[in-house]
Amino acid sequence: LIDINALVDEYLRLSYHGLRAKDKTFNADFKTNLDTNLPKVEVIPQDFGRVLLNIINNAFYAVQQKIKLNIQNYKPTVIIITEKIDNELIIKIQDNGSGMPENVKLKIFQPFFTTKPTGQGTGLGLSMSYDIITKGHGGTIEVESIEGESTTFTIKLPLK
Ligand code: ADP
Ligand code: MG
Repeated sequence: LIDINALVDEYLRLSYHGLRAKDKTFNADFKTNLDTNLPKVEVIPQDFGRVLLNIINNAFYAVQQKIKLNIQNYKPTVIIITEKIDNELIIKIQDNGSGMPENVKLKIFQPFFTTKPTGQGTGLGLSMSYDIITKGHGGTIEVESIEGESTTFTIKLPLK
């Protein structure tokens, strides 16, 4: 049984410090709002970890892109929320980065779809995440995004 809150904490730090190791000027806020009564769940830790890490990396990348626009008073932030509602465990990963236009949003779960420059993205992260969450864990993964403003990924896992 896996403590999702502990995984979230670990991967947020890992992702942030990984980016900073590559780019010393990178700076972003990350916050969590974790349900302290969250039940432990039966997930495959390596698989679930890859999903979290990919979505968090994408979120930091999106704020990094927006930092480059030098918008006044922009505070790059990634927030992760966990909660239990009825018989579901919910994880939300929110960023106030570049967001996506509708035509991009429609394709992000397709294998090899990427908007990143060659060498920076394989386009496999979200298609793999989709399969791991839906086929591997019987859950759902959804995205909401406002171009230029924000993106939220919501993962829902069924609880027994
Ligand atoms: P990759 O990260 O290798 O590009 P992914 O499957 O992880 O592949 O993501 C596919 C695409 O979805 C990204 O190239 C990007 O266009 C878009 N995307 C994913 N997450 C975000 C996000 N948080 N903000 C903006 N765009 C995103
Ligand atoms: Mg990715």
